[in-house]
Amino acid sequence: MSTAVMPTYGRIDIAFESGEGPYLIATDGRRYLDFCAGIAVNALGHGHPKVVEAVKAQAEKLWHTSNLYRIPEQERLADNLVASSFADLAFFCNSGAEAVEGGLKLCRKYQSATGNDDRWRIITTTGSFHGRTIATLAAAKNPKHLDGFGPPADGFDQVPFGNTNELRAAVTEETAAIVVEPIQGEGGIHPATPEYLQALRNVADEYGLLLFYDEVQCGVGRSGKMWAHEWSGVAPDVMAVAKGIAGGFPMGVVMATEAAAQGMTAGTHGSTFGGNQLACAAANAVVEEIASPGFLDRVVEIGGYFMAKLEELVAARGDVFGSAHGVGLMLGVTCKVPNLELMTKTREAGLLTVIAADDFLRFLPPLTIEESHVDEAIAVLDEVAANWGKDG
Ligand SMILES: *Cc1c(COP(=O)(O)O)cnc(C)c1O
Repeated sequence: MSTAVMPTYGRIDIAFESGEGPYLIATDGRRYLDFCAGIAVNALGHGHPKVVEAVKAQAEKLWHTSNLYRIPEQERLADNLVASSFADLAFFCNSGAEAVEGGLKLCRKYQSATGNDDRWRIITTTGSFHGRTIATLAAAKNPKHLDGFGPPADGFDQVPFGNTNELRAAVTEETAAIVVEPIQGEGGIHPATPEYLQALRNVADEYGLLLFYDEVQCGVGRSGKMWAHEWSGVAPDVMAVAKGIAGGFPMGVVMATEAAAQGMTAGTHGSTFGGNQLACAAANAVVEEIASPGFLDRVVEIGGYFMAKLEELVAARGDVFGSAHGVGLMLGVTCKVPNLELMTKTREAGLLTVIAADDFLRFLPPLTIEESHVDEAIAVLDEVAANWGKDG
């Protein structure tokens, strides 16, 4: 597998050449059930006709003109996102890390614009993941990701995820904001409780901080609500969105209330590609489909079905699996055997999944799956578990 591509990934030696809904077909003709979906990106599966049509039509008209000019497709997308959320304003970029980074800048700028130039530090939580840029690495403080990249950028104070006392104790006169994933993804599937998010909201309000949710993975319908924090009823001031939003076309979004974004005036931030016509055509098709009547109810229903099946599996195969976790179609099981090996065996049996943390097998299928796909996935997991250790 020696290629000219910089070897920053531990790649699996499979290439896919086509896809249909939740299935991927490899170059050797083998068909896989895709419960990874490009790491929660292909929200509507592969080759969804509405998204394909929207991108094709836009590709024939116009791709990119830059943010020097108005972009009607971007305005339509911003209207859609604002209509479905706490936010008043949306800024468009191209990835999750860029969205988180933009949100961090917005938080600092808010404090500066409201006369608090000394408030610039951000409180983050253990087990989080916010991307691979210098600032987002410093925010998450994962030692594996930081190794060899010099001293982490200053300005981030980390507290244990889920612990309100330590959070309160970490607030200083320099604190600007708190950033948290409403459902942690890369760090294992860990939903924040509504009580925890409410406590963060209270601390933020008490000390004049912004509450910033990283919904890069859990947003855009993944949890069965358009935004994962809706399950708690606790709204943030700022939110980062990416992965699923354009169904596989690169896009990130910073969403915020008008008050939180008051410092983000002309010239304060930018992104050359951000929200171009082609990206917004894809995103509008995805967002409009997910917001269509009944779509999210269906995600909740199928997610509940999947979770019940996972609980049965975990109970029946307690030698391999620990417990089932998650919300909607952002699910995972803890593993009592090495999770990477489990992912490999599962893939060899025809099911694509993705690991998380040290001991999770994670399931992020397209939001369009049906019961039959869940049954197919569970049958593979059950077979792999039943044969565990038998083939040496
Ligand atoms: C994937 C992810 C990111 C980073 O997104 P990229 O597009 O890889 O930069 C940030 N936050 C969360 C919660 C993520 O899951």
